[in-house]
Amino acid sequence: MRVILLRYGEIFLKGNNRKFFEDTLTKNIKNSLTDYTFVIKKISGRYEISEYDVDYENIFIDKLTKIFGIHSLSVATKIETDEQNIIEVVKSLDLTNKTFRVTTKRASKIFPIHSMEFNAQIGEVILTNFENTKVDLHTPQVEVKIDIRENGYTYISTNDIPCANGMPLGTAGKGLLLLSGGIDSPVAGYYLARRGLEIEAIHFHSYPYTSELARQKVLSLAEKMGDYLGKIKIHIVSVTKIQEEINKNCDRDYMITLLRRMMMRISQKIALNVGAGALITGESLGQVASQTLQSINATNVVVDIPIFRPLIGFDKEDIMQVARKIGTYNISILPYEDCCTVFLPKNPVTKPKLERVLREESKLDVDTLLNESLATEEIIEI
Ligand code: ATP
Ligand code: MG
Repeated sequence: MRVILLRYGEIFLKGNNRKFFEDTLTKNIKNSLTDYTFVIKKISGRYEISEYDVDYENIFIDKLTKIFGIHSLSVATKIETDEQNIIEVVKSLDLTNKTFRVTTKRASKIFPIHSMEFNAQIGEVILTNFENTKVDLHTPQVEVKIDIRENGYTYISTNDIPCANGMPLGTAGKGLLLLSGGIDSPVAGYYLARRGLEIEAIHFHSYPYTSELARQKVLSLAEKMGDYLGKIKIHIVSVTKIQEEINKNCDRDYMITLLRRMMMRISQKIALNVGAGALITGESLGQVASQTLQSINATNVVVDIPIFRPLIGFDKEDIMQVARKIGTYNISILPYEDCCTVFLPKNPVTKPKLERVLREESKLDVDTLLNESLATEEIIEI
């Protein structure tokens, strides 16, 4: 029988909570494959997916490699443990012109041949049955795995496929991601979702200064992130009035600092409304004027819940590489304006002093602006 074997990683470490992590992972797998029929079974330390339509196998693999909590998978042939059966399956593999190694694992010592001995024996079978093959223990093109289990079955597979790793989505509570249209914030969301945090997103716009296309871009980003995150709720909030008021009343060099403080306050309010215990941003130290230590501090102090900044120590290059891997890069580089670039000062402060920030902010009616902004909230589920 053809099956897909899923191995999980860190869940192993979870003592008493292990069942919760496993149940969540099972639920996430079922949700991801909800359009297909299959059977999923837990076998010691892994899952086995069977009775699926082989025509859809590539779709299964594509989806499963994106589920957090799975370390690797392989397509395997499952047979009743028997020496001759194993040899027949090995003969059916495609190993011509390949370097290979055989790795036997014998969880069941009922099987009489020692692993090392069996590796050599199967190696011989391969060398005599396929042309131009060679053993390579260190960097083989194909690793033939023979996994002899306690339950009377043996799984034979070649080359594991690495998966997303991390912890199952939804096992670490919820976070609110500040999602701009840029390259960084989707990557930040990806990293924390990978630690099990369920993600809702908030996006700020300055319509009509920013275009309808900018909004569409953010929705496309959220949809793409859905490959890993499933359904995402996005809160869309206007900061137009806030930017206009800052522009009118305050020193424009403080525009970004003041705006970001308002964004943080709004985000915290919405986070508390939806039961999110943390904010997430794509900030990276020193990347732009608003991400110096002083700037980060000036925005950090207005909220009480933790702000997670998983990219704080990343170089732009590294972030771009991950953005490409998760498929958000090509959407992020579309040209539409983010609200921060509207009313952009010529010389944004890079080291805002808190007293000066507070002095500029005192020229605004913060509470009214906050409430007006919150009143524009729109919620979209993608
Ligand atoms: P990104 O590539 O994520 O846009 P950036 O390098 O452009 O980041 P900033 O514009 O300084 O950096 O934004 C820093 C962080 O603030 C972003 O990563 C994001 O989390 C948040 N942010 C910025 N603009 C918005 C917005 N319009 N809506 C929601 N969050 C935003
Ligand atoms: Mg940005």
